[in-house]
Amino acid sequence: MHKAKETILELKFDALTHNYNYIKSKLNPKTKFLAVVKAFAYGSDSIEVAKHLEILNVDYFAVAYTKEGAALRDAGITTPILVLHPQAVNFKEIIEHCLEPSIYSSNILKEFIRVAEQQQQSNYPVHIKFNTGLNRLGFGRTDIDYIISHLKKTKAIVAKSLFSHLASSEDDNEKDFSIRQIEDFKTIALDFKSKMNYKPWLHLCNTSGMLNYTEGHLDMVRCGIGLYGFGNSAKEDANLKPIATLKSIISQIHQIEKGETVGYNRSHIASSFEKIATIPIGHADGISRQFGNGKGYVFVNNQKAAIIGNVCMDMIMVNITDVDCEEGDEVIIFDGIHKASTFAEFGSTISYEVLTAISQRVKRLYAK
Ligand SMILES: *Cc1c(COP(=O)(O)O)cnc(C)c1O
Repeated sequence: MHKAKETILELKFDALTHNYNYIKSKLNPKTKFLAVVKAFAYGSDSIEVAKHLEILNVDYFAVAYTKEGAALRDAGITTPILVLHPQAVNFKEIIEHCLEPSIYSSNILKEFIRVAEQQQQSNYPVHIKFNTGLNRLGFGRTDIDYIISHLKKTKAIVAKSLFSHLASSEDDNEKDFSIRQIEDFKTIALDFKSKMNYKPWLHLCNTSGMLNYTEGHLDMVRCGIGLYGFGNSAKEDANLKPIATLKSIISQIHQIEKGETVGYNRSHIASSFEKIATIPIGHADGISRQFGNGKGYVFVNNQKAAIIGNVCMDMIMVNITDVDCEEGDEVIIFDGIHKASTFAEFGSTISYEVLTAISQRVKRLYAK
């Protein structure tokens, strides 16, 4: 553990190994593991995380955008990489970097075939995405004949997998909907297989889907948040370890009298004598303004200190009237005990948003 002398995001690779092994222990040994490392591996560091997971023998990676996959290739990652949300303008770059596109619409299918043929590719692996209820990306069930007619006409591409995505995999109240999605996807896969005479891999589950629906594991699971230590439930959170600790330092302490105000627009007014600490982390670092004005808390020497006033671009001020501390002391925004999921709740959001918001200017340190 590094003691913070400035704002740092500390990444613990033994926690990443633990989470990977925990998730693997839930899978049939034949089920492949795709690690989702989009958005800088959920705000951590996609290159370092991917390198670590490659050593652990992960089967696949996924990113959202082409640029994210190209960065992994440039860093020497050789494991297959699925690009979940490519655009036609990216297709040459995708082929140049040996990335595998999600094919989610007829325009994308036609255009990728055109570019792959032009680049003289044969059997270039692609992944066909079906919409089973999220209504975000993907072909409908009735598009199968159309997709197959295009696949049969070209030698340039091959459907390596078919996949879909669950809408409410973490929500017990939506079990019926999730089970219907799993069944619909299996029906699509059977239809495809009978018309194409081969069986592409099938994958459907994200972290919560994998934890809650064994029947949905199929040939591969796509885990993101679980690798980073969150299971979207108290029960599963207990089995996982957050890999990221966000910490900072007290830059300065002020003492203010009743009636004095703190921060921009004077939104905090002291109701009595107060001691306040200024911390070098603001909305440009990923602490959204919704955590200001008493909503969010940080921890100083294990004591809770409320964020007061408006969150500034590069700073927050916290109330330390009753906290035993001095300038230079360490401040925990979240770690393995004061979790990012709890911090998220202060601002009515979720761990995913808090983690991915940590901006690139925050220094990353690695505990390997
Ligand atoms: C982001 C994403 C995932 C990972 O979801 P987690 O809940 O973080 O495990 C899986 N599949 C798709 C299509 C995604 O966009």
